[in-house]
Formats: sequence, C-alpha cells, structure tokens
Amino acid sequence: MTYIDCHFHFADKYFYKRVDELVKDWLKLDINKIVTVATNLKESHRNIELAKKYPNIIFAGIGRHPWGAHKFSEEELFICKGLAQKQEVSIIGEVGLDHYFIKDKDRWKRQVTVLEQFIQMANHNKKSLMLHLTGAEEEIYQILTSSKLEVNFCCHWYSGSTKILKKLSDLGSYFTVNPAFLRSKKHKKVLELVDKAYLLTESDGPVKFKGEPGTPVLIPMLCEVIAKEIKIPIEELNTIMQTNFLKYIKNQ
Ligand SMILES: [Zn+2]
Repeated sequence: MTYIDCHFHFADKYFYKRVDELVKDWLKLDINKIVTVATNLKESHRNIELAKKYPNIIFAGIGRHPWGAHKFSEEELFICKGLAQKQEVSIIGEVGLDHYFIKDKDRWKRQVTVLEQFIQMANHNKKSLMLHLTGAEEEIYQILTSSKLEVNFCCHWYSGSTKILKKLSDLGSYFTVNPAFLRSKKHKKVLELVDKAYLLTESDGPVKFKGEPGTPVLIPMLCEVIAKEIKIPIEELNTIMQTNFLKYIKNQ
C-alpha cells in the first residue's frame, strides 16, 4: 500500500525538528508520499531542504498563506520567483484567499494580488497549485477563470457551497479530502459530488483532529473510511489515489 498526504505542514516548528524520526516511523506505515506546503518564505526554504533530503517521499511546496498575504514583500516575491524554478519544488502552495478567518476587507485586495503573483509563477514554471479558499470560494473561482490557468490545481479542505463546488469541479479542480469530512456536511459533499479521479487525501497537520495535532498517520484510517463511503475496496482506492497524485503533481 501507498498512503499519500497531499497537504501537510512539515516545516512547522511542531514537526520540523523531528523530521528524520517521523519519516522513518511513517514509512513503516506505508505513508510514503508527503506534500509539505509552505505558509511563508522560511517554510518554503525548509521544504526545499526536506525534498532534497527525501526525494520521491517529500514533495516541496513554496508559497505565502493568505493569512499573511499582507506581509508579502517585493523582496519575498523576488526570492519566491527564484525558488519556483527549482527542480525540488513540486507545487505552489499554500496560497489563496480567506474571507472567513480574515475579516479585514483591506487585506482581501492584497490577498488577490499575491494569489495572482503565485498563479503566474505556477504557470511560468509548470507547477501545480494548492489552494486555500475558506469563505472565498466564489472569488477563487472568478480568479481561476479569468487568469488563464495552465496548470493543475487543488482546492484544499473545501467547505463552501455545492454550487461553487460543481463549478470548480467543472474547471478541473482536484480536491483534498480531510478527516474533518467525518464531521462536516459541507466537506462531505466533496466525496459525494467530485469524480473520484480528482480526489486526494490530506491531514493538514498540525491542524488538530480530535484534539491532537494532525499528521499523515491519519491517512490510512481516512482511506478506509473513504473506501467504505464510496463502496470500493481499499486496494482499489489506493491505486486511484496514487494515480491521482501523480497526475496532479506532474501536471498531466
Ligand atoms: Zn494547510
């Protein structure tokens, strides 16, 4: 079996110091593909180092999370453009918009500018996008339709309306399924409505699940539940997830 965590924050201080020990433990559980997303420049650099150290196991993302988009400087943009060209960088993320946790509307404009800059980087370097879109699902849809996206993209932890979910799906979006779908009706819609060829799995650790920081260890349990939910054998789901992951990340 191969279990894949498509959205994990390995550069977060909670995990970063224990990377070697954790990778070793997780490999024993067949968790052997981990996409580590970045929320800022420091994490982007860290992710590249991790991908260099664990090729074909850890896949690096670079980016600026929408929560900190207002702090994204010209200098950081310049550095990110350089990093995006690196072979060790697999994706651009975590980038996007957030109108749910960020209420200050002045910051929303800045989020759009920064997202557009990262979309350009993704297009230019043929790197897939990992998008955060909480409370801004429709706005993300508008940006994606108007910005001539030439790469694969994934909406992470979708919790918006069914209407926009269908529209994003028609645009060719991949969607991550998170253990939170067990409790969230809106997130559960992803599993009901999205073609299984566009599903990916994620923990979004260290975001907590049942009071504990999430880790890729949640993925085998998550896959078992998904397999039951969509009524296919776990082995078949495993093959589908591997195919989806390779297609998503390689921009096929
Ligand atoms: Zn995240």
